[in-house]
Amino acid sequence: MTMNSVGRPTRPEGQTAVMGGSLTGARGLLQDEALIFELGGWDKTGVDLEAARFDASDLGDLVRRAPIGIPGLSEPETMRHYVRLSQKNHAIDLALYPLGSCTMKHNPRLNEKMARLAGFGDLHPLTPISASQGALALMDRLAHWLKTLTAMPAVAMSPKAGAHGELCGLLCIRAAHEAKGQGHRRTVLVPTSAHGTNPATAAFVGYSVTEIAQTADGRVDLADLEAKLSDDVAAIMVTNPNTCGLFERDIVEIARLTHAAGAYFYCDGANFNAIVGRVRPGDLGVDAMHINLHKTFSTPHGGGGPGAGPVVLSEALAPFAPAPWVVSGANGFDLIETPEGEAAQGFGRMVAFQGQMGMFVRAYAYMLSHGADGLRQVAEDAVLNANYVKARLSGAMSPAFPEGPCMHEALFDDSWLEGTGITTLDFAKAMIDEGFHPMTMYFPLVVHGAMLIEPTETESKQELDRFCNALLALASAARQGDVARFTGAPYLAPLRRLDETQAARKPKLTWRPVSQTPLAAE
Ligand SMILES: *Cc1c(COP(=O)(O)O)cnc(C)c1O
Repeated sequence: MTMNSVGRPTRPEGQTAVMGGSLTGARGLLQDEALIFELGGWDKTGVDLEAARFDASDLGDLVRRAPIGIPGLSEPETMRHYVRLSQKNHAIDLALYPLGSCTMKHNPRLNEKMARLAGFGDLHPLTPISASQGALALMDRLAHWLKTLTAMPAVAMSPKAGAHGELCGLLCIRAAHEAKGQGHRRTVLVPTSAHGTNPATAAFVGYSVTEIAQTADGRVDLADLEAKLSDDVAAIMVTNPNTCGLFERDIVEIARLTHAAGAYFYCDGANFNAIVGRVRPGDLGVDAMHINLHKTFSTPHGGGGPGAGPVVLSEALAPFAPAPWVVSGANGFDLIETPEGEAAQGFGRMVAFQGQMGMFVRAYAYMLSHGADGLRQVAEDAVLNANYVKARLSGAMSPAFPEGPCMHEALFDDSWLEGTGITTLDFAKAMIDEGFHPMTMYFPLVVHGAMLIEPTETESKQELDRFCNALLALASAARQGDVARFTGAPYLAPLRRLDETQAARKPKLTWRPVSQTPLAAE
């Protein structure tokens, strides 16, 4: 096993590097880096503090006896630590990030500048209404854009992610059924291609989940849907465009059948980027849909920041929306915290305050800088880019649904790898050696060895070509039998094949120094 300077393995046992190992654990100009606690420096501080004016004996038994375990790094050491760590991950600012279903688009820096304006950035959530009029105005305008783009009459702004939005939508649906004396409905229908959060949310709310079959061309099987709709069904959850990257052509009929059975139509709006400005979900019969501001409206996500998942609601569900919400009146904007009248049927609240203000500012800045025509072009370019990728790669890799164009993501299966001894996972790992983050793998589950590529509209043709050329070269190496290039990959990443199951199931979240008494850091 190769160890770095602090004894951390840089590569699992039995795996050799293609190139000679380095003495420092660094690779070229990429520095190796230890945990901040391993860097130590307990006796140092990067800050010139005045001596304490009080005698520590005032603290009685509470006087510290051992180091508190906060590393005392100087400013350059601190900067280097975090910059080195940042270089160990792929980032949208480094190259195309083709993770399907995630809409990893560029985060415009203008949004960041706006979010840092003192009036937004320094605002405390408990600031009096009279002193937060600008922030409330922004929330109101963002809500207006979301309602306009979706043709829905109401929006709950507070959910903090797509999955949280799903929870909000299903809680509205449950409250609406209960208000109508339909609380006995216990089932939610979900297509087999759904994102895992859909059935998980339904189960969390207490519903049982029934799968709806898929047709050979990757859409909801209407006959199966019809057979499964009954007066036990509370809702269906359908993603459109779906996770196979295809538009559900029968969406209006799906809504009609659902409503005829007395159920509500929850649309997973994570893929709104493909249709924003072109299709309004309200026109299709949707009752509730979350919008991932961190996908469609470019606010950073993944390692880059928190998300936000406002939920647009139909007339039927609006009275059940969670508090709070913004209203405007003669005296300016106000926040309704305790709904009255019809709105008092709401199911409660999702979060302590108003939602992710920083994300609201970024999303609104994005909308204003694009304008309505620009947002429409976002959808058009996202779909064009995905179809370009699909067209360029289809000769070498096997598209899961070869017929017709795709929406914003191109889906391949692993039949083209058959007989090569190389799996989807191996292929994805080899992409890392070429400087690209892998695409989404093995999702959706309905496609064998799925590879789901979403380039987004923010990639130029040049970058798409660089990406496609790399994949085509890898595909040709795979066909020529260069198996080790794949099964041993990644060769050039800071860490190589990790036990991802162990990492997810049993993450090591504490650090204990080898030869010191346990520190407060634990
Ligand atoms: C991203 C995504 C979600 C979940 O959204 P989060 O913001 O990650 O909670 C749900 N459904 C689909 C199809 C998605 O792509």
